[in-house]
Amino acid sequence: MKDINVLVINCGSSSLKFQLINSKSEEVIAKGLCERIGIEGGKMTYSPAGGEKKETVTPMKNHTQAVGLVLDTLTDAEIGVVKSLDEIGAVGHRIVHGGEDFASSTIITQEVIKAIEKCNDLAPLHNPANLIGIRACMELMPKTPMAAVFDTAFHQTMPEEAYLYGIPYRYYEDYKIRRYGFHGTSHSYVSHRAAELLKREYEDLKIIVCHLGNGASISAIKNGRCVDTSMGLTPLEGLIMGTRSGDLDPAIIEFLCNKEGKSVNEILNVLNKESGVLGLSGGFSSDFRDLEKAYRAGDPAAIRTMKAFAYRVAKYVGAYTAAMNGVDVICFTAGIGENNPLTRTMVASHLGYLGIELDEEANAIRGEDVLISTPESRTKVFVIPTNEELAIARETVALI
Ligand code: AMP
Repeated sequence: MKDINVLVINCGSSSLKFQLINSKSEEVIAKGLCERIGIEGGKMTYSPAGGEKKETVTPMKNHTQAVGLVLDTLTDAEIGVVKSLDEIGAVGHRIVHGGEDFASSTIITQEVIKAIEKCNDLAPLHNPANLIGIRACMELMPKTPMAAVFDTAFHQTMPEEAYLYGIPYRYYEDYKIRRYGFHGTSHSYVSHRAAELLKREYEDLKIIVCHLGNGASISAIKNGRCVDTSMGLTPLEGLIMGTRSGDLDPAIIEFLCNKEGKSVNEILNVLNKESGVLGLSGGFSSDFRDLEKAYRAGDPAAIRTMKAFAYRVAKYVGAYTAAMNGVDVICFTAGIGENNPLTRTMVASHLGYLGIELDEEANAIRGEDVLISTPESRTKVFVIPTNEELAIARETVALI
């Protein structure tokens, strides 16, 4: 195993998350977040391992300045964790959309940058920001090898019948409209970990991963290959999410445009930002901590919302069990999947036909890999905390 430090970068339109991870120990040496890049009130949060968390309020005109600030901090004589940039052996960039061009992670070259740029259309909010992050790092660390790790790549193994929509085929040919799926790094990490925990070959298993965070998606992994996933051309499709609607009748868009006198863009904004759990609860909250409290207090809005959320997950589990002709193991991960036992119980209550029995004591454990099904349960159920940064660091090291 190589012993280098890998800087993992995840650039949003106005933010930059980073972690410096040692490839041998797989420990996080330092991590942090730059917020409000290019807008007033820029702030960087920085946490070195074993040290104190530090918040710096400082304007960052652009992502290059933010990357500069991150590198200065990591090498700072007082609070830094490395002596110089030479101690950063590689950079791994999280890239949201790799289209059909990228079925795996890749070393970043000028050709790769052009190919990522070609996918901007498919993820107009994310890919341009990811590219800015790549360019900023290349400017400041011109000799350091960099890898692109795509959110979509893991799902590229889906068969045609799973990724095609029932619309004129020429839309696929002309515009590449198809299911791509997201959260691939998480689905890959968690499914591999499940095989490890079961001490079984990854290629012998039928696995369903429920990534339930503010963004939520579910995937079916059969014999080591992803065969279906719930997010589509964009992350709007599939499960009910924090603020995204997930699946709906497409005719609702025109209907709402007419009723509310809004444009398609405005309605899409509602579907992305004001829907899902937030919308269904009548604007109460998109956070499951609030929802659970209200649910337990008997609040009808929280009850209908949590029931609808769990039902949608269970419905997809049923669909993916059919797609794989069975399922050996179901995994829960991400913010809600890892931290909300009630949601897991509610999902499992629909899955009696799979012979699932939850061990409610194990289901209450937090923060570690846990088998939450009883020894008698025909289908195993795990909670596996996801670690996308570590997965990106591993991919990066494997490539260089
Ligand atoms: P993520 O996008 O994976 O960071 O997940 C964020 C979501 O996870 C939050 O909006 C909450 O709904 C949920 N969450 C995080 N921590 C907890 C917790 N301790 N209990 C219940 N839900 C939680």
